[in-house]
Amino acid sequence: MALVEIKDLTFYYPETRIPALHGIDLSVGEGEFVLICGPSGCGKSTLLRRLKPVLAPYGTANGSVLFAGEPIEGLSHRRQTAEIGFVMQDPEMQIATDKVYHELAFGLESLGVDQASMRIRTCEMANFFGIQNWFNMQTASLSGGQKQLLCLASVMVMQPRLLLLDEPTSQLDPIAAGEFFDTLKRINRELGTTIIITEHRTENLFPIVDRVVMMREGGVFYNGEPRGCAKIAENEPAFAAALPTAMSVYARTCLGDDAPAPLTVREGMLYLKGRLSGAPATGGKLPTGKKAAERRAKPVVSMRGAWYRYERNSPDILRGASLDVYPGELYCLIGG
Ligand code: ADP
Repeated sequence: MALVEIKDLTFYYPETRIPALHGIDLSVGEGEFVLICGPSGCGKSTLLRRLKPVLAPYGTANGSVLFAGEPIEGLSHRRQTAEIGFVMQDPEMQIATDKVYHELAFGLESLGVDQASMRIRTCEMANFFGIQNWFNMQTASLSGGQKQLLCLASVMVMQPRLLLLDEPTSQLDPIAAGEFFDTLKRINRELGTTIIITEHRTENLFPIVDRVVMMREGGVFYNGEPRGCAKIAENEPAFAAALPTAMSVYARTCLGDDAPAPLTVREGMLYLKGRLSGAPATGGKLPTGKKAAERRAKPVVSMRGAWYRYERNSPDILRGASLDVYPGELYCLIGG
């Protein structure tokens, strides 16, 4: 039996004529890891929130949603809290207490779990997430990535059957996002939790999810294994741009008729090497053109060996940093 069974779901926000969701049929089995993606405004969040009635937006819904075979609207608040975990975009919106250990125990307290079980479960989860070292810290002093991991751990401590995540890494830098996805993979593989996630960062997720659901204008237009997206993207350039780089290259170059689409950079590299083995060599020259011309211009901003600390006795934050920003450049600073 499927854990989640959505049948012909249509949903209108109040006083709107165009449905935010229409004719959605979707079944998610126990232990599956499903990614829902699609452009902004296509209905991903609305669909996800229909799967936890206490968070579902107000409006008119038709069709049915079953959770473990029962109509989801009939689930008690207690069962929703215990069995359906939800992680939002912004961890600040979800953290309710001032200490890490208290945040971990908060959900169990609200379920009335006894002290001894609460201690064991919070410690187990702290270990699983590797957060035992910040167990006694103030939640306000955590980084964005730590806060989001804490939100995830506080939900997982309740041992939900279904974990829902609504663009959980949108506030995180790429390194913290990567760590977050690695943890999700472990939750799915090691704890067997069913996961449904909406996310723009497809790069890290395509290789680890079982299924991808692509949405457009409130409907589902692809529901299948991740590699299958490449075939659809061959005729839809906008869609191809949203796929992981290796798949996007595969779809856009249309080289790959019968070869399976690559999911990771490694697979993409091997695929291109195989396909282009007979192509003329470029002589190892780097492309020249506009970027090269920009490089010959004078930098607009130039920094050499800069050191900086906020207070006299605080640690150095910049340690001999150097950079040049040239006219017309879009310069991006990233890191943990
Ligand atoms: P996504 O998560 O894919 O960005 P959403 O589910 O947030 O999309 O939104 C789907 C559609 O519903 C959009 O057209 C959006 O404008 C509309 N919508 C979202 N929230 C509301 C609301 N509270 N009232 C009216 N319309 C809404």
